[in-house]
Amino acid sequence: MADFLVIGGGLIGLLTARTLSVSGAKVVLVERGQLGQESSWAGGGILSPLYPWKYPAAVNELATWSQTRYRQLIEDLEQATGIDAEWTQSGLLILDGDQHEAALTWAPTCEADVQVVDANAIQRLEPALPANHPSGLWMSQVAQIRNPLLIKALREDLRLRGVRVAENTEVTHLLSKKGRIRGVQTEYSEVVADQVIVACGAWSASLLKGLDQEVPVMPVRGQMILFRMQPGQLQHIVLWQGHYAIPRRDGRVLVGSTMEDVGFDKTITEEARDGLAQVAYEMVPALADVPMERHWAGLRPGSPTGVPFIGAHPKIDGLFINAGHFRNGVVMAPASAQLLADIVQNRPTILEASPFALDNCSTAA
Ligand SMILES: Cc1cc2nc3c(=O)[nH]c(=O)nc-3n(C[C@H](O)[C@H](O)[C@H](O)COP(=O)(O)OP(=O)(O)OC[C@H]3O[C@@H](n4cnc5c(N)ncnc54)[C@H](O)[C@@H]3O)c2cc1C
Repeated sequence: MADFLVIGGGLIGLLTARTLSVSGAKVVLVERGQLGQESSWAGGGILSPLYPWKYPAAVNELATWSQTRYRQLIEDLEQATGIDAEWTQSGLLILDGDQHEAALTWAPTCEADVQVVDANAIQRLEPALPANHPSGLWMSQVAQIRNPLLIKALREDLRLRGVRVAENTEVTHLLSKKGRIRGVQTEYSEVVADQVIVACGAWSASLLKGLDQEVPVMPVRGQMILFRMQPGQLQHIVLWQGHYAIPRRDGRVLVGSTMEDVGFDKTITEEARDGLAQVAYEMVPALADVPMERHWAGLRPGSPTGVPFIGAHPKIDGLFINAGHFRNGVVMAPASAQLLADIVQNRPTILEASPFALDNCSTAA
């Protein structure tokens, strides 16, 4: 029998499984579909919350811990698997003029490098932008990764580490007796396990329903469109009025995203595509001259304040949760995995764990 059974093979489940395996544990991961094809595939891969000063300290703590380790993680994975997830320090250029004060107050609290830049500096940094932004904010340290490649690298890394992965296997319910986890029931068989970790993203609450503890994780749809420019035509991540453009190394540019409360519905809509395209052309006019290649949607695991739930289930011994990462699951993933591994393996935790505890959850927005 494995030491830990992880349910859910998105970035959170994959990194949780890897972190436990690195520390010597035997791990099994069970995924309903194929690894990493839900929110973790759909996401943008920006390694920073957007406007990080708008988030609770707990989100920034996980993000900061991860940011300082992401480059090494990607290098380690490349060395082990030969797959490069393209960690790129593209920097983040924020064009909104009303964020300066909040940003400059926040920056020292996270030792972040935030500079106010004028119109000339914006043009020098990013000639592809229109000249109508009098000032902005420049965060040179912000990086990105290409999440589908990170998933590929993690899949191979888990294989090399001997982590058993069962894809196309849905966990239909959790099995517990007298307040203690016994394992899980999948669509095929019963799997016995002493320690079970729920990392099912937006679907986590459904699996935990009926266990006498509210888990306020709900799906929030995000749609995204993809353009193809020349490599280097746009060099930095650009953020304006809540929308962003992310230039990849090969010239592809992702523009996102919508925030929609439509339940578990991943349909893409014409309205969102046209709305995103309109913003894209205003933000980076040259995008109007290149083809739009793709349009997709993903379901973010929304939580009331954006703070994920990481820790023990308060009512069932041996049951743990790592879910609810909302808009920042890619950037928070390494820290979330390490924090959960510290908790389940009874080590001192990398961060104070109480803000992430399930029994600490608040439904206040
Ligand atoms: C459009 C968009 C843009 C985003 N941009 C960014 C960004 O730039 N930066 C950032 O940090 N974050 C971003 N995010 C958020 C980020 O993608 C998520 O927070 C993160 O991927 C959540 O990871 P997860 O593993 O918890 O969930 P998921 O990736 O959704 O994985 C959950 C997995 O659990 C599986 N599962 C569910 N139920 C069961 C079951 N019963 N049995 C077995 N398996 C099950 C699912 O099939 C799925 O594979 C974005 C999200 C979207 C949608």
